[in-house]
Amino acid sequence: MWKAILQQLSQGHLLRELPVIDSSCGPIMSLNGQDILLFASNDYLGLANHPHLKHAACKAIEQFGVGAGASRLVSGTLTPHHDLELTLAHFFQEDAALVLNSGYATNIGIIPNLIAPEGLILADRLCHASLIDGCRLSRATLRVFHHNDMDHLQTLLAKRLSNRPTLIVTEGVFSMDGDLAPLRELARLAEDYEAILLVDDAHGTGVTGPTGRGTIEHFGVESANILHMGTLSKALGTSGGFITGKKDFIAYVINTARSFIYSTAPPPALAAAAQTALQLIQQEPERRDRLWQNREYMHQGLMAMGCHLTNTQSPILPIIVKDPELALEMSQQLREKSIFIPAIRPPTVPKGTSRLRVTVTADHSLEQIHSALEAIQQVGQSLKIL
Ligand code: PMP
Repeated sequence: MWKAILQQLSQGHLLRELPVIDSSCGPIMSLNGQDILLFASNDYLGLANHPHLKHAACKAIEQFGVGAGASRLVSGTLTPHHDLELTLAHFFQEDAALVLNSGYATNIGIIPNLIAPEGLILADRLCHASLIDGCRLSRATLRVFHHNDMDHLQTLLAKRLSNRPTLIVTEGVFSMDGDLAPLRELARLAEDYEAILLVDDAHGTGVTGPTGRGTIEHFGVESANILHMGTLSKALGTSGGFITGKKDFIAYVINTARSFIYSTAPPPALAAAAQTALQLIQQEPERRDRLWQNREYMHQGLMAMGCHLTNTQSPILPIIVKDPELALEMSQQLREKSIFIPAIRPPTVPKGTSRLRVTVTADHSLEQIHSALEAIQQVGQSLKIL
């Protein structure tokens, strides 16, 4: 059965394969023994390979070993987990925080406990698969509103039976389009209709907001109806997911989230490295400045050559080419020019919107961005998308 499915995927240019990288993740990485410029990573601040993070991880391995040895509720909560959670709570100016194994585990763990099966979930059409899977696990009714369309969301809210428990789900920075959710309007609607608003800020953490606290800080929204989750795996350069909130809410998650309860604790070294990352983003705001300068340079270059971009407002700069075969061909030709930009195809993005997802980081030099722009222009012209 799987052979037929693989064949079908291949015929539709939707088969995925694993590129194996034999170096750290950029900006210059090694692929099949060749140096290649990476414009695909979510390591926005260039922390994944930072000496301070590596040092913190090694030190934690020496002291605590490699594996945590048990789930968090048994004997897997080690000092680095505890310290990281205190630091996260402090950074996000919340009472408490909880770290889970990944952003994916966070979303599928929390959402089923935010809404009963009789409830209603309203999710943005472009929500990440982990959010949608969490919604499905809840067994609540799931309705999707048009991307960032507040009129559509309001219509769906107005149509529901009054008193029906409601959860609104969005991303802060959309992972495949790079645009921001209108959080002020979302928070207002959540308040007006007494709904909970869950914001997945995986791509906003460390990137958006004057101090890197993310998209909620960027818009300056304060609302008791908002719940905030993020990941350690993007700008924080490590791995894991987290949720912040009031102490009793975090106690509730600890007692109910199955992906938290029934999974071995994250390696303590990762927690120690993530804590160092949080310190660095506060001590070195110039990293975020460099990221945004690089983003502006790349964005202007892509616009100037006439690329069809999304309405992006972040370091995620997707070039829409629509056709999956064309996206693959473009990505392949760029690879031959030593530039790595992945083709993103359905089901990750809606049909007819295949794209090259360009991301820039604080660590790219202007020369490297210039090389990428030149290569994109040459390949784009040869494939007649420019
Ligand atoms: N939410 C969003 C918006 C994401 O983009 C991702 C990762 N691509 C996740 C959640 C999952 O995070 P993780 O990779 O830490 O599992």
